[in-house]
Amino acid sequence: MASRAPAGSQDELPSMPQITVTLPDGSSRTVPAGLSVGDLAAQISPGLARAALAAVVNGRLVDLTYPLTEDASVRIVTDRSPEALPLYRHSTAHLLAAAVTALFPGAQCGIGPATDEGFFYDFVVPRPFVPEDLEAIERKMRELAAADLPYERQMWPREEAKAFFARRGEPLKVELIEEKTAGQREVSCYTIKDKDTFIDFCVGPHVPSTGRLKAFKLLSTSNAYWKGDARNQPMQRIYGTAFFSEQELQAHLAQLEEAKKRDHRKLGRELGLFMFHPWAPGAVFWLDKGATLYNTLADYMRGVLFPAGYVEVKTPILFNKALWETSGHWSHYRQHMFQVQGSEGEEMAIKAMNCPGHFLLYASEVRSYRDLPIRLHEQTPLHRNELAGVLSGLTRVRQFAQDDAHCFVAPDQIGEEVERLLRLVGRVYGDLGLSFQAKLGTRPEEFLGEIATWDHAESQLKAALERAGLDYTVNEKDGAFYGPKIDFDVTDAIGRKWQCATIQLDYQMPERFDLKYVGPDNREHRVVVIHRAIFGSFERFIAILIEHYAGAFPLWLAPLHAMVLPIADRHLAYGASVRDRLRAAGLRAGLDARQEKIGYKIREAQLQKVPYMLVVGDREAEAGTVAVRARSGGDQGASSVEAFIAKALDEIHRKGT
Ligand SMILES: [Zn+2]
Ligand SMILES: [Zn+2]
Repeated sequence: MASRAPAGSQDELPSMPQITVTLPDGSSRTVPAGLSVGDLAAQISPGLARAALAAVVNGRLVDLTYPLTEDASVRIVTDRSPEALPLYRHSTAHLLAAAVTALFPGAQCGIGPATDEGFFYDFVVPRPFVPEDLEAIERKMRELAAADLPYERQMWPREEAKAFFARRGEPLKVELIEEKTAGQREVSCYTIKDKDTFIDFCVGPHVPSTGRLKAFKLLSTSNAYWKGDARNQPMQRIYGTAFFSEQELQAHLAQLEEAKKRDHRKLGRELGLFMFHPWAPGAVFWLDKGATLYNTLADYMRGVLFPAGYVEVKTPILFNKALWETSGHWSHYRQHMFQVQGSEGEEMAIKAMNCPGHFLLYASEVRSYRDLPIRLHEQTPLHRNELAGVLSGLTRVRQFAQDDAHCFVAPDQIGEEVERLLRLVGRVYGDLGLSFQAKLGTRPEEFLGEIATWDHAESQLKAALERAGLDYTVNEKDGAFYGPKIDFDVTDAIGRKWQCATIQLDYQMPERFDLKYVGPDNREHRVVVIHRAIFGSFERFIAILIEHYAGAFPLWLAPLHAMVLPIADRHLAYGASVRDRLRAAGLRAGLDARQEKIGYKIREAQLQKVPYMLVVGDREAEAGTVAVRARSGGDQGASSVEAFIAKALDEIHRKGT
C-alpha cells in the first residue's frame, strides 16, 4: 500500500523517507516520515497551528505530537471540530487531578472522563472535599494553566507502568491498566510537569498544553464509588465544566442556576409528586398528584396512538431464560436484568424491555400482508438492574415504563410507516411545547445483514424525513448493529437537549424469532420490526417535563386544575359544593378547608403552582359565583361556576400552555 513518495522536495535530504498525507479538502502533500501532526499543522498555516488541539489520523483521534510514519489522511482538530469539546474537557479533568494531587499528597486518582455537561474526576481522599477545597483546587488549576505546561505522552512497558502505580499506592490505576490494555506491551502515560510531576495512565489524547484551557469552573462534589458500585472503594467526585470561551462558560453557569431551581427532585418533593424509599432503590412511589400526572400522560399517549392504528397489549413481566436466550439478551445483557428463580428451579428474568414479549405475541398467529402494519403498544413496568451509585431522581431508575410500541411491517411499508411516526412525534412534542431535532443514524462499522438491505432502509428513512418536512442531521455510523435509526433530541425551556424519542429499524429480531407474514404471492416473507418510543421512559420524560415547565404544568397536565379557597369557615359548605360541581364536570379540584387567612391560602396554592384559585366569600356564596385567580395573571374577576367550568374544559381540550 504505502508506496513511499519520491523524495522530490528540495528542502529535504534525498535519503529521508517521504510520505503522502491527504487533507480534508482532498489535497495532499508530501512530508518527511516522522513529522508530527502539530508540525504538519504549522506547515499548512500558522493560524491552524495556533488553533490546533489534536488531530484525526486515518480516523483515529491523536495528540498533536503524534508522528506520521506512513501515508495517511489527516484532519486537524480545532475548537470547531465535533471531537474538540470532549477532548478539551477531559484535558481539564487531568488539570484537576494534577491540582488535587499537588494539594493533597497521597490522593489516589480514579477516572476523569468528559461528560455531556463538563467533566468529573474521582479521588480516594481521607476526608470529603469541602467548598474551600474546591476554591483552592481551582486556584491551583489556574496556576497550572497559566504556566502552559505540556501534556507529555510517554510510552511505558505495561508491567513497568503497573509496578510504578502499585508502588505509588494507586491500585485503582493498576486495575485500569489491566483492564484497558490487555494484550498490549506498552501503555501510554501522560505527565504534567510542574514542581511535582503529575503522571496519569490514560489512552489520551489531550490538548497540547495546559495553557489551552481558558474557561473552566469546578462545580460540586459528591460521594462516588469505584466503577459506580457501592460495594467498591468509596471515592469523592469533583464535577466541573469547561468551555472554549468565558462567554459560553458564563451562559452555561446561568443555565445551571436556572436548572437548579427547576430540579425535578426538588420540585417533586415540594409539589408532592413522588418520593423514594431506601428499601426500593430506583423505584418511584408516585403520590396522588404524581400518579395523576403520570396517568394523564399515559392516557394522552393512548389517545394519540389508538386513532393511529395501535392496539394496546399487556405481556408478562417475568420470562423464562429461554426467551432471553432467543433474543440474545441472556448472553449480552443478563447482568442488567433482575434474575429470579421459579418454584421448579427454572431460571427466569424480569423484563427490561417489551420487544421479545411482543415478538412471541406476533408469532402466535399466521399473519397476512393484509394485516400489516401491526402496531403493538405497551406501558407495563420494566426493570433494569442499574448500579445503586448511578441512580438519580426520575432520570436513572431501576423500575420504569415506556410508551413503547413495535410496528411490524413489510419491507415496502417502512417509508410510509416511518413518515407516520415522524408526524406522530411532531404532534406529541407540539402538544407539550417542546422543540425537537431529528438525527438519522446510519450503518455502523459492525453491522448484521446485507449492505443492500441497509441502503434500502436508509434511503426510505431519508425520504420519510423529507416528506415529513423535518430538518435532520445525519450521524454517520450511529445506527444500531441491527438496523438504522432516527433519534430525537428535544430542547426544553432553558435550552437543554434531551434525547427522548427513537425509531429503530430491526432486521435481526425477526430472524431470531422467525417472524413472518404471508405475502400476496402466498409465500412466507420476513417481517421488519420498528421499535419506537416517543416519550421514552415515562419516569425520565416526566422529569424533563417538570423541569421544562418548572412545575407549572399547563392546565391539561396539572395534577390539580383548581383549588377552591373559602375566605372563612362559614363559606366552607359553599366551597365544598363548588369543588363537587367541578369534579362532577371532570375537573381535578380541591378545597383548602384550613383555618388560615385567605392571603396565606392564595400564596400556598401559588407555591403549589395550581393553575386556578377560586376564592369564595359572602358575595360569591350569595351570587353562586367564584372569584377567579390565575396562577399567571392574577385576578380574573368573578365568574359563574358554569362559565368557569366551560372555560377550563375548553382550555384543557386545546392543551393551552
Ligand atoms: Zn487523559
Ligand atoms: Zn423494542
